[in-house]
Amino acid sequence: MRPKLVVGNWKMNGSRAANATLLSGIVAGLGGAKAKAACAVCAPAPYLAQCQELLAGTPVAWGAQDVSVHASGAYTGEVAAAMLADFACRYVIVGHSERRAYHGEGNELVARKAKAALDAGLTPIVCVGETLAQREANQTAAVVGEQLGTVLETLSPEEVTKIVVAYEPVWAIGTGKTATPAMAQEVHAQLRAQLKVRVGKEAAQQLHILYGGSMKPDNAAELMAQPDIDGGLIGGASLKAAEFLAIINAA
Ligand code: 13P
Repeated sequence: MRPKLVVGNWKMNGSRAANATLLSGIVAGLGGAKAKAACAVCAPAPYLAQCQELLAGTPVAWGAQDVSVHASGAYTGEVAAAMLADFACRYVIVGHSERRAYHGEGNELVARKAKAALDAGLTPIVCVGETLAQREANQTAAVVGEQLGTVLETLSPEEVTKIVVAYEPVWAIGTGKTATPAMAQEVHAQLRAQLKVRVGKEAAQQLHILYGGSMKPDNAAELMAQPDIDGGLIGGASLKAAEFLAIINAA
């Protein structure tokens, strides 16, 4: 059985004071006992040092929300994967739909970001997901298949075994609309089948495929009970310790 993984994506939220309250609440709530799921928070880059300071030695890992494809140099505003590794990040989200929509990130750039993350020893959380228009036009399978496919072509099979995939239907993000467990499971099963072609059955069974999009304490258990849903990528509900903990405990 794959252990579940619950990751908070804070997006562009937080302050030193609010983060301290949130992180100490999460750590205290986990209570040193073995949590039901592995967990992590993906914070805005300026707060990664604070995450390292407050989370080192706790069961909570941390990571970033984006990464440059470049190693260093004249790329104003960009953050290199090695810099994230320097702050002991374990994860970095790549290809979130907000970056695809607002920053024009396409499948090839996202795949190169995943590669840059892996080269620095980080675990990329590769996001895929369809818009409402694409779902209504019956394009979900084709869209997510192509998004993941470009990553699978860019990485070696060995590298693919080190990624996390997150299925986030765009229409469910921040809207309070969640995919039903059956709808999400259908896409997760498709993604796992696609991974299997690249890495083989056993390795594909070990890979984590997270669901994201209005996952809350009251719907987390039934989503994560699906056979191919291995955890969650949580936006809004990751900003409150009690809600984030409830989702971890629902795993
Ligand atoms: P919400 O949980 O706020 O819908 O956000 C999901 C998300 O985009 C996580 O990356």
